[in-house]
Amino acid sequence: PHLSATPRLAPAPVMDGDQNSSYYKIVALGAPGVGKTAITQQFMTSEYIAFDSSMDQSEHEKTISVLLNGVESTVEVLDGIDIQGDLEDIRADAFLVIFSIAHRDTFDTAVQLLQELRMDLGTDRTTILVGNKSDLVRKRKVTTEEALEVANQYEAKYTETSAALNHNVDELLVGTIDHIRYKLNPSLP
Ligand code: GDP
Repeated sequence: PHLSATPRLAPAPVMDGDQNSSYYKIVALGAPGVGKTAITQQFMTSEYIAFDSSMDQSEHEKTISVLLNGVESTVEVLDGIDIQGDLEDIRADAFLVIFSIAHRDTFDTAVQLLQELRMDLGTDRTTILVGNKSDLVRKRKVTTEEALEVANQYEAKYTETSAALNHNVDELLVGTIDHIRYKLNPSLP
């Protein structure tokens, strides 16, 4: 029998993140003022941070080390990206599409972004629609139901946060990492 010398090819990486190094890149998108910076800043105070990595941080780019179920990951979070640019050129494992539940126009922007992400990148990237400022209960202009419906339409997850009260922000960070890991390797627990 003929022995093939062809080396087994490793499957081509689908994502930008390398599974072995567990280096993930999360990009926060959304209209100005929705709380992209505030959410990213709250990530820094997460109880899942493995060590204080607050030294080498810039205003719109934060790198944190997160310990989840005994697995350590390095997570780079970017906010304040110019959304005029081509989404295809943004290297990211996950996109957080953030709007303010108190500002209707920011929801419209979020829907546009979901549309663009879908057209440019398909559905292989983790996409999470985030309704921030959930503390502004009496100023709410976008219902949970309609946001959920839009998220479903674009195969995105939906969650509501309050960066001001640090409510649900840790869950967003952990959920995003879990989802990236799942997309990279669906057989993981
Ligand atoms: P960005 O332009 O998307 O980065 O938005 P920022 O993070 O700079 O936030 C814009 C403004 O919204 C700031 O005054 C924040 O204090 C405020 N803000 C951010 N998150 C929340 C929130 O969850 N609730 C409330 N009430 N205000 C928030």
